[in-house]
Amino acid sequence: MFDYLIIGSGFAGSVIAERIANVLNEKVLIIEKRNHIGGNCFDYRDKNGIIIHKYGPHLFHTNNKKVFDYLSDFTDWNIYHHQVLAFIDGKKVPIPFNFNSIKQMFPETLANRLIEKLLKKYKYGSKVPILELKKENDTDLKFLADFIYEKVFKNYTAKQWNKKPEEIDPEVTARVPVFIGTDNRYFNDKYQAIPTEGYTKIFENMLNHPNIKLMLNTDYKEVIDIDFENKKIYFFGQEFKGKLIFTGMIDELFNYKFGELPYRTLDLRFKTVGKEKFQEVATVNYPNNYDFTRITEFKHIHPVKTDKTTILYEYPKEYKKGDTPYYPVFTPENRQIYNKYREYAQDFESIILVGRLADYRYYDMDDIVEKALDVFEEKIK
Ligand code: UDP
Repeated sequence: MFDYLIIGSGFAGSVIAERIANVLNEKVLIIEKRNHIGGNCFDYRDKNGIIIHKYGPHLFHTNNKKVFDYLSDFTDWNIYHHQVLAFIDGKKVPIPFNFNSIKQMFPETLANRLIEKLLKKYKYGSKVPILELKKENDTDLKFLADFIYEKVFKNYTAKQWNKKPEEIDPEVTARVPVFIGTDNRYFNDKYQAIPTEGYTKIFENMLNHPNIKLMLNTDYKEVIDIDFENKKIYFFGQEFKGKLIFTGMIDELFNYKFGELPYRTLDLRFKTVGKEKFQEVATVNYPNNYDFTRITEFKHIHPVKTDKTTILYEYPKEYKKGDTPYYPVFTPENRQIYNKYREYAQDFESIILVGRLADYRYYDMDDIVEKALDVFEEKIK
């Protein structure tokens, strides 16, 4: 009946389902544990009429034209350039830390000297990861690096990861580099936009095809059995000869055979505030105060005229089985565990792994779409 079974309806599963249906004209069933599609990109209009992102703020940005064009088949876009301020020593300054942040934070003479020295060393418009800037020997630049490290990264990273910045993969803090210039935007990508009617609509449009069936509220283990010894897949008790595309947690798929892969999770607390606007920009980070890392106000992302506003506090915490696995903790040690799973998975020709959880990578949305399109071309088509 089905040529393909897909576990998970986030970007990885939905892109592949759409390609199988439209390009190959074959039949696919998506099995989704939650009561909705879209994975962590799921959004909806709350009781105030404001589109909120149920699993935390998702801001689409990419330099990949192919990905942007592909998604544009399923949505119109509103141009949106995300801005973030960090609350530091009683002031709200732009993040990534840039020349404007320097001018707001320090007295004029010092600020000018810091900017001059940065410009001598780095190209205008370039991005310098904090752990790189920390290697500076010049007294002024060292002062600046230590300031940013202490006030922007150290405590935020402790809350987010329960680790010091130098203990996590350098790729993670490099996502928010110091910016050599005055651009206050959080991202510099060529394409930055928000789907006009929200992300969920993209998924509805992708999956709206007679070849695609969807089973919500279903843990895949309720309908699929994998015989690991004989490398066979059973669907409702019958051997399934097609391909299984798995976008969930790789350690769960293989019954934690090589141990659990660690994640960080978030406690997300939404709040309605009885005023038109709560804060200056969509997201304000609080590296050094409170137990939450940031507050996001969704009205900035999806403008709407109402006298109330919806905000979201993010409280990071350690992941335990059953929580939502938001962030993989990819230390070298955890990568080794992951590699064991991946190697083991190679023995299963009919199982294809793709997505943030199956790949155990800190993917952005565009990375997942790109990856899913590649996997379709290379392993399915
Ligand atoms: N980070 C930080 N302070 C900030 C912003 C980011 O220390 O004000 C660090 C922190 O370790 C965080 C990482 O940079 O986990 C990546 O931040 P990003 O905003 O990309 O995280 P995401 O939006 O994916 O949660």
